[in-house]
Amino acid sequence: ITEKDADLRGMPHVSYEDIGGLKDELQKVREMIELPLRHPEIFEKLGIEAPKGVLLFGPPGTGKTLLAKAVASESNAHFITISGPEIMSKFYGESEARLREIFKEAKDKAPSIIFIDEIDSIAPKREEVTGEVERRVVSQMLSLMDGLEGRGKVIVIAATNRQNALDPALRRPGRFDREIEIKVPDKHGRLEILQIHSRNMPLDTDVDQPRIAAVSHGFVGADLEYLCKEAAMKCLRRLLPELNMEEDKLPPATLDKLIITQNDFDQ
Ligand code: ATP
Repeated sequence: ITEKDADLRGMPHVSYEDIGGLKDELQKVREMIELPLRHPEIFEKLGIEAPKGVLLFGPPGTGKTLLAKAVASESNAHFITISGPEIMSKFYGESEARLREIFKEAKDKAPSIIFIDEIDSIAPKREEVTGEVERRVVSQMLSLMDGLEGRGKVIVIAATNRQNALDPALRRPGRFDREIEIKVPDKHGRLEILQIHSRNMPLDTDVDQPRIAAVSHGFVGADLEYLCKEAAMKCLRRLLPELNMEEDKLPPATLDKLIITQNDFDQ
């Protein structure tokens, strides 16, 4: 299918190649989500239910959304994304109806993935739940998940940074009963992420990505992406005085000077 078709079908164009590090996590995601979406007959033959809900937990910016989009895209599944805070605020008063609509769309367009970002804001632990609205939204969500057939046609992926803040009722069998921890990348993961985000950039031969990966301890994917974009912007700012913006077409010699150096990555 073409990109345009993919757009029309609500599918993101993210491939597994766009994910750095997370090799084991990706393997688990493929087994738990891609396999049942693509081959529900395996689960039928074995007489077991495919997972209905998978919880991804880990710090912000580590690639949870990216993983969900990639598995949808690679499984040719319809992708619907909702954010917890949005459901609670934007659709205030209609949150439950909105949830029912989303599950209906997912069934109609199956195979589908429903991705719920920041689920803890919909379904915090009951002792943290103050409002009646939250309680109603949680029970609507539980009943919608219980209503899924478990034949792999619709899988709900939820993401949270605070795994322990979740209502335990959501984590019972048949609901979000599989969990995958998405960790901060190590040196090797950071290198892969840097390579992904700079793959279309004109890098000078002096750019030492293994060194950048080694010294960027604690950086998550989103930070590394930002680092690459910033380096490109520094390169641009360095050459800006030489650019004649009045020119309709920049001479190739000018474009040839746009090369990102190690210095652009430093500081
Ligand atoms: P949040 O909890 O804030 O929603 P998240 O874990 O869902 O965070 P993403 O939204 O997936 O994080 O990451 C933000 C961006 O950072 C991605 O769109 C991607 O460009 C980049 N990124 C994050 N992790 C990775 C990774 N492992 N490989 C490549 N790029 C990554």
